Amino acid sequence: MAKPYIDLHLHTLFSDGVSTPEQVAEEAQKMGLAAIALTDHDTIEGCPRLAKACAERGIEFVPGTELSTDIEGHEMHLLGYFLDTMNEELIRETTRYQQNRTNRVHDLIRQLNSIGVALRADQVFSLAKCRAPGRPHVARALVRHGFCGTMDEAFARYLRKGTPGWTPKVNVPFEEGIRLIHQAEGLAVMAHPGLNKIDHLIPDMVRAGLDGIECWHSRHPKSTAKRYREMAARLGLLSTGGSDCHGPGRGQPIIGTVCVPYDILDEMKRRLPRSTVSVQV
Ligand code: AMP
Ligand code: ZN
Ligand code: FE
Ligand code: FE
Repeated sequence: MAKPYIDLHLHTLFSDGVSTPEQVAEEAQKMGLAAIALTDHDTIEGCPRLAKACAERGIEFVPGTELSTDIEGHEMHLLGYFLDTMNEELIRETTRYQQNRTNRVHDLIRQLNSIGVALRADQVFSLAKCRAPGRPHVARALVRHGFCGTMDEAFARYLRKGTPGWTPKVNVPFEEGIRLIHQAEGLAVMAHPGLNKIDHLIPDMVRAGLDGIECWHSRHPKSTAKRYREMAARLGLLSTGGSDCHGPGRGQPIIGTVCVPYDILDEMKRRLPRSTVSVQV
């Protein structure tokens, strides 16, 4: 059977997506995808369920994550692929990152309260129902409790850097993120470089062990994808890609709509530190 397209950047409700792993597998099948990866923020908890749901539908599954890292004061999202989801250090460290996220929600609520927005932390946590809460959960809570009309408004008024509600979270140093992914037998890939404006740091990242660049992304125009594919080839890096779909929603990226060819996955497998590729279900 022909192996057409893959999507290597997806979120579920184990972080700030709105779909269950089973719903993601169902949508992937509807889109005719040959393989998908789960890249929830700072967690791998959804991987066993999505692996099972994909196996039932004949879709190849790659366990992954999207770590929020810090490089010279810039937030840089680092994707990890083909992770050993039973790796003890990976579980321990991502649990710590999740605690940082939870602490940050409390800080964010204090900050909002100090500017007169009376949202409570329990209103965020009861809506998030996950261990890796983020700003999208706060945005949804602000909408649900009548403080904003839309999520976009919530980000624009209170959550973006430069707004009175802005609250940074503790991000792991980039080199530490790379080391964590590699010791869990994974590949480390720079997420959506087109959104970051830190291309000048890519040579440093390569020296630190970066394996690839996410060239195809919902918010990368074709010309941007092409530019990063050329850069990846020049630097001896893998090219990867995915939609960054967080589930259905108006104006949100749709699973499978960034057309990443299956060959990309073969190239990633060739670069893996181990010879056999197995997925824990
Ligand atoms: P955090 O990791 O908690 O800082 O939240 C970052 C997440 O917020 C990312 O997944 C972004 O995709 C998401 N995000 C950023 N701006 C918006 C927006 N205007 N509407 C919805 N989600 C957003
Ligand atoms: Zn997200
Ligand atoms: Fe990201
Ligand atoms: Fe993402």
